Amino acid sequence: MALRLYNYLTREKELFEPLSPGRVGMYVCGPTVYDDAHVGHAKLYVSMDVLVRYLRYRGFDVLYVQNITDVGHMLDSGEDRIMKGVRLKRLEPMELVETYMRHYFEDMDALGVIRPNISPRASCHISEQIELVKTLLAKGVAYESGSGDVYFSVEAFPEYGKLSRRKVEELEPGARVAVREEKRHPADFALWKHAEPEHILRWPSPWGWGFPGWHAECSAMATKYLGQTFDIHGGGLENIFPHNECELAQSEAAFDQAFARYWVLSGSLKIDGVKMSKSLGNSLTIRDALARYTPEAIRAFVLSAHYRGPVDFTHDAVGAAEQGVRRLQNTVRNVRTRLKDAPAVDAALPTRATFLKEHEDAFVAAMDDDLNTPRALAALHNMGREVNRRLEGDADLTAETLLGIDNAFRELGAGVLGIIPDDLSASARIETELLDGLMATLLAIRQEYRDARDWQRADALRDRLADMGVAIEDRPEGAAWRLESR
Ligand SMILES: [Zn+2]
Repeated sequence: MALRLYNYLTREKELFEPLSPGRVGMYVCGPTVYDDAHVGHAKLYVSMDVLVRYLRYRGFDVLYVQNITDVGHMLDSGEDRIMKGVRLKRLEPMELVETYMRHYFEDMDALGVIRPNISPRASCHISEQIELVKTLLAKGVAYESGSGDVYFSVEAFPEYGKLSRRKVEELEPGARVAVREEKRHPADFALWKHAEPEHILRWPSPWGWGFPGWHAECSAMATKYLGQTFDIHGGGLENIFPHNECELAQSEAAFDQAFARYWVLSGSLKIDGVKMSKSLGNSLTIRDALARYTPEAIRAFVLSAHYRGPVDFTHDAVGAAEQGVRRLQNTVRNVRTRLKDAPAVDAALPTRATFLKEHEDAFVAAMDDDLNTPRALAALHNMGREVNRRLEGDADLTAETLLGIDNAFRELGAGVLGIIPDDLSASARIETELLDGLMATLLAIRQEYRDARDWQRADALRDRLADMGVAIEDRPEGAAWRLESR
């Protein structure tokens, strides 16, 4: 058996074979850090995290690079997202970037997403991006406009569109894209943009002061850390066009060789059946989601659907994932409790409980099949049921067997899927459950005050909780609480 991945470049499931045996270079488009990450980011980065974890489980040495976009990612209005954040939040650009980059890592840490080996920032790689633009100009696949912009010429790269399967002649100027006079073809995209002095994020270049286009950063940084050709390019399917297509075009036109060999892209996330958007007011940050659900529940929810498909984030669906995770965790907790009472064994022994083999094989077969996490989760649950039967029926499980069971859950449930925390001690569980119970009681009391229009008592209760660092938010579906990060 071997790992097969669906490659968006060929639209086929392919046997995964890295360029250098045993080593994998992987690049994933990272966040634009101008606001808190939302549950759509949780879906994308948990999916990519499980890919990295599984590659490592399979024995590959993975170099995982995920960029931080802190300049050049424009809104449809033409405004830089960072500058919009600066305008709204009245912060220095780099203060804004630092704030939300730290939040992003805190959120990912909380979700158990293993940090990339390298998190390069676009603003720290301006010279590499300028070099890339110079190369493209020298090759005749880019041109300067009269006003200090440099564009990539899609007509000069005949393979443009091969990733997203779009044809240049079909790429008519859409309503979203303002057609600029200086472009030779409406689909040509900016490699470098001229910036006036009032634009804070700007750098000197051979074409005057300006800043790089968003697509340029990923090509420049992926090449710098992984080489001109590397193994896996991950990201969200919604960015296959224009972003990923433009990255591919720039890199292959510049270096005359394949860019990423496997394109692994994750499907989108909706909330209650509706596309998430700030204008609809249904955006849910990871911070808010973590106030309501455990990290393992959010991960298990993401993994309960195949990464390529869309998922619908509903309270019921995450709740169901939470229940499933709790069942697994209870099983593992019981195993560990029995193990503590069992006679000591050599923990270094590579023990395996033989009756688990069937389930472990099913797990690996599912993951090998383009990371079929719903099937892998089912295998883990089958394993849990089998273990429960043995725990109930066989009082004489040996320490070796118990250790073998624990090892299997540690490798697959914790190591690969990240849904079984190391600390499953009763005290950790009781504290969490007690806190949940107490908060539910307090919110119910506050609701009684509000129903009775006793605003004074309701507000006093909220204020006392706020003093303790507990924030209450009233939502259409009821009040929610979260611990303020102080
Ligand atoms: Zn990118």
